[in-house]
Amino acid sequence: MSEPLEDPRPSINHSSESTLRHLAAELSTPLLVHDLAVLRRRVEDLRRVLPWDAVLLYSLKANPLPPVVGALQSAGCGSEVSSLGELAVALGTGGPSGPVLYTGPGKSSAELRAAVTAGAILSCESAVEAARVREAVRLSPADPLRIMVRVQPPSRPAAGLSMADGRQFGFLEEEAIEFCRRPGTGIEVFGFHCYLGSQLPGPDDLLAAFGHVVDVVQRITAESGVRPGVVDVGGGFPWPYAAPGEGPDLTPLMAGLPQVLAPLAAAGAEIWFESGRGLVAAAGRLLTTVRDVKHRAGATVVVVDAGVNVLGGMSGIGRVLRPSTRLRNLSNPDGASVTVDVVGPLCTPLDRLAVNSTVAEPRVGDLLCVENVGAYATTAALSAFLSRPPAVEVVVDGDQVVEAWTLASGHLPVTIPAPARAG
Ligand SMILES: *Cc1c(COP(=O)(O)O)cnc(C)c1O
Repeated sequence: MSEPLEDPRPSINHSSESTLRHLAAELSTPLLVHDLAVLRRRVEDLRRVLPWDAVLLYSLKANPLPPVVGALQSAGCGSEVSSLGELAVALGTGGPSGPVLYTGPGKSSAELRAAVTAGAILSCESAVEAARVREAVRLSPADPLRIMVRVQPPSRPAAGLSMADGRQFGFLEEEAIEFCRRPGTGIEVFGFHCYLGSQLPGPDDLLAAFGHVVDVVQRITAESGVRPGVVDVGGGFPWPYAAPGEGPDLTPLMAGLPQVLAPLAAAGAEIWFESGRGLVAAAGRLLTTVRDVKHRAGATVVVVDAGVNVLGGMSGIGRVLRPSTRLRNLSNPDGASVTVDVVGPLCTPLDRLAVNSTVAEPRVGDLLCVENVGAYATTAALSAFLSRPPAVEVVVDGDQVVEAWTLASGHLPVTIPAPARAG
């Protein structure tokens, strides 16, 4: 591989370290800090490399915190949701909202009804689901419900977390052709949705993935005669997880996308992209305090107050936290660099944030910071495990503090209906 040229992009400015220290002192740790100024900057950076008339959807799975979603909608993003909870957030921000796409396998009748009633667009995952829509929603042949057909990628993309590994998504190509020919009374196919995977390494891989989607959609539309009104070609825009740095320079997309998307443009299709982490990861930082430092058989073990109950128990949806987190010591930045294992406070040896990680010598009481955790942090963590209180998530705009939120936790009683109880 050749050495990368100097990155032309100006670096992202976060709120100052004195603001972080002040927030940690006032609100205690573990604390997540999400910066709206960084979110707006990320939308600008991603929009800059996409066609000007394309729609960019924000995938709420990455971070459904209402002010985060509201800021992205105000910056012009639509929403991609996959549960009634995410739908409620997408509709409840009060801001201007682009299209809302409701996706995911196994949608219930109640979900389908609520999504259609709210004006969300269904990404239909199967013929069984289409039948459930017909049952759950009052459809009229005169005014059919317009849906998008989700297509399962027929082969793996180059790298990243592939959706082809999950066989539960969408229609196979042949199934989609069959369904598009006869979608049934009251349903009209007006678009296609295909998501190849997350963390595609760079612009070449992204272009290959989008090209792959274009090919699949072209074959389906040619065979079925459906005109593609909208094609959601997915995303997979990469960003580091729980480690410093930025995603790769995506400027080459500007030159590459028009050519890759030309067949869809020629067919008059509107193009949608989706991104979760690419929009929100950079905006979130975790502050955690050192509770204990132990020296063990050549290793230094640093015990902090944030574990896998706070930070991505599914590691950017790589399922289990890869213990590769990198921490920065805000209290002792000039301390000697030491190699440490960093563990959380949970009573399980699996609660590891970092293994063999270097950091300026952490002392008991020091404030540490983990960068790039605006995506897949608290809501992807094992928040109920060990019944600790969830972390507070504070929203700032540069150095201005806006508001603070927290996830609820703990068990609540549920009323069992009488006949069920009688057995
Ligand atoms: C998870 C997911 C995304 C977001 O992935 P990121 O890597 O966070 O950008 C987008 N679309 C679909 C369909 C997804 O399942």
